[in-house]
Amino acid sequence: MVIAIDGPAASGKGTLAKRLAEHYRLPHLDTGLLYRAVALTLLDADRDLADADAAAAAARGLDAAFLSDPRLRGSAMGEAASIVSAQGAVRAALLDWQRRFAGAAEGAVLDGRDIGTVVCPDAAVKLFVTASAEERARRRHRELDGRGEAVAYEAVLSDILRRDARDADRAAAPLRVAEDAVVIDTTALDADAAFRAATGVVDGRGRA
Ligand code: C5P
Repeated sequence: MVIAIDGPAASGKGTLAKRLAEHYRLPHLDTGLLYRAVALTLLDADRDLADADAAAAAARGLDAAFLSDPRLRGSAMGEAASIVSAQGAVRAALLDWQRRFAGAAEGAVLDGRDIGTVVCPDAAVKLFVTASAEERARRRHRELDGRGEAVAYEAVLSDILRRDARDADRAAAPLRVAEDAVVIDTTALDADAAFRAATGVVDGRGRA
C-alpha cells in the first residue's frame, strides 16, 4: 500500500507521515529532504541556487547517506530547497529516486508537495494535510522558540506565506490537491486527532 501525503510547509504532514509509517510498518520518505539535500550540495560547493546545470547535476548524483545530515533540517534550508525545487530538471532527476522508493514490495509512505499528483498518481491513499497560515506560523514559531531561536512571529508568518506562494505558483509540479485526495485540515486538530482522522481514511479504504 502506498500512502501519498501532500501539504504546505508546517502543516503537520511530516509528523503524520512518520506516525502512519510506524503504525502500518511501512518505509517512510520525507521527500522535502531530497530538495533540501540538493540545495545544501550547491551551497557547500559555493554555487548559486539558481544555477540550473549545477542543481540538476546535484540531483542526479544525490547520495542517500546525505539525507541524515542535520544541516538539512533548518528553516533556511527549507527556503533554499523551495528555490531549487522550482527547476524542472531537478524534479525530473528526483522523480525516479522517489518512484523507486515507492515501488518497495510492501509499499511506502511518502510526504511532500506533489506525491499524489505526480510521483505516485496511483497511490492507494492520498491525503492533503493543511492548516491556516497563521496556525502553521504559530506552530513553527513555538518550535523555533523551543530550540532557542528567537524569531518574531510576523517573520515566521511571512516566510510561510512566501514559501506557500513559491510552491503553489511554480510551473513544475506546483502544490495542488489531487482530485482523489482526502483533505485533513489540522487547524483545530492536535497530532493525535490528525492521526485518528488519517487512520480512519486509510482503514476505510482498505489495503491495496
Ligand atoms: O517539506 P519541506 O519543507 O522539507 O520541503 C522543502 C521545499 O522542498 C518545499 O518548500 C518545496 O519547495 C520543495 N518540495 C517539493 N516537492 C516535494 C517536497 C518538497 O517541491 N515533493
